[in-house]
Amino acid sequence: MNPDFTHAGYRDLLGNLLSRGYEVRSYEDADPDARHLILRHDVDMSLKAAEAIAAIENELGLRSYYFVLLRTELYNLYSEASKRSLERILVLGHEIGLHLDASLYGNDPASLEEAAEKECRILEDISGATVSAISFHRPAESLLGYDRLLAGRPHAYQPKFFKQMGYCSDSRGAWHHGHPLENEAVQQDRALQLLTHPIWWSPKAAEQVQSRLDRFARERYELLRQELGRNCTVYDPSRTS
Ligand SMILES: [Zn+2]
Repeated sequence: MNPDFTHAGYRDLLGNLLSRGYEVRSYEDADPDARHLILRHDVDMSLKAAEAIAAIENELGLRSYYFVLLRTELYNLYSEASKRSLERILVLGHEIGLHLDASLYGNDPASLEEAAEKECRILEDISGATVSAISFHRPAESLLGYDRLLAGRPHAYQPKFFKQMGYCSDSRGAWHHGHPLENEAVQQDRALQLLTHPIWWSPKAAEQVQSRLDRFARERYELLRQELGRNCTVYDPSRTS
């Protein structure tokens, strides 16, 4: 159990960093040696969960990055519901970035560049906003510290953001590499890239990873049944066979 993996816990975490003198910055203007904070969210599963986190940051006057996937089985960026989520995140003052699954492309620099350009173009068309940064989804070891811009844009695993400044992630629903406030860079008043995945931060009580994802799966299953009913008049989503 992670008692701080709630919306209130996230708000407290940000409040704590701000009270230590941290300022939220963009990938363009973050200085590794200053008390600068890059707020990054990789939206692997749920845009709805991302909206809630975006609202909390907006209340605190903070601007962050929501990196979204184009090629995933878990959500459809072209759907009406996704479009509304993207609009909401943008209205709340945040950036939409590209979350690129590089494993779907050749891993030579030219293929990666071509994929990044193409996906950024599509994402800008969908979101109606400029895509100014990229993060890799579940990157191969070879991409950690990959020191090139992608499609002319900074990416989150460049050495500046991944090695020169502190890096902390809530991957798999826990601080497997230490709590952000105990991060060496934070202890030394240096910059931090804080990666969180909105799905892990529950509205009220913190949940175990397994039950959180089971709840998410049940909600998606219910949505799927409703959509089947809307698309096939002889199907009754309230009945099971
Ligand atoms: Zn991801």
